Amino acid sequence: MQDLTDGLARFQRDVFPAKKELFAHLATHHTPSTLFIGCSDARVVPELITGTEPGDLFVVRTAGNLVPAYTPEADGISASIEYAVATLHVRDIVVCGHSACGAMTALAEGHDLTAAPAVASWLRHADASVARTAAEGDVPALVRQNVLAQLANLATHPSVARATAAGRVALHGWVYDIATGAVEDLTSPTLAA
Ligand SMILES: [Zn+2]
Repeated sequence: MQDLTDGLARFQRDVFPAKKELFAHLATHHTPSTLFIGCSDARVVPELITGTEPGDLFVVRTAGNLVPAYTPEADGISASIEYAVATLHVRDIVVCGHSACGAMTALAEGHDLTAAPAVASWLRHADASVARTAAEGDVPALVRQNVLAQLANLATHPSVARATAAGRVALHGWVYDIATGAVEDLTSPTLAA
């Protein structure tokens, strides 16, 4: 915890004053351009890897960057997606998977999750991802298929379906490589970073 309190002090002393105008603007404006859906993994930091500033990304992070398909019963993820798309009018949505993902590794290698029932249940949202992946144990392949499957899940949310049909929002699937920092764009390979 000491690390965090030291970090807070450093932020207030060095970082905040350097971006004072930005924070003053953000105090009354919330206009992110992008909804970024990533994994909760501590090594994948959306703002850092995209070089964005506070206010640029509306971020949802879940274990395995899973986006449950729409159901009429509201949940926090659906509400966040709807708010970003229908109220904040983001123009792009990125689903970002990553190398060495614990969730995808557990699924690809068939780990025993009986001691983690909530995890096991949550990872069922990747059933289609597993079904699309031919080779068992191939974590990179599952990571890619999972990003594509979650984009399909995302498209079932009415706010997203409406916005994409109207051409107001574009969906992107990325895979971030922790070892190299490279991002593979699964949806527009020619734009791969
Ligand atoms: Zn992960």
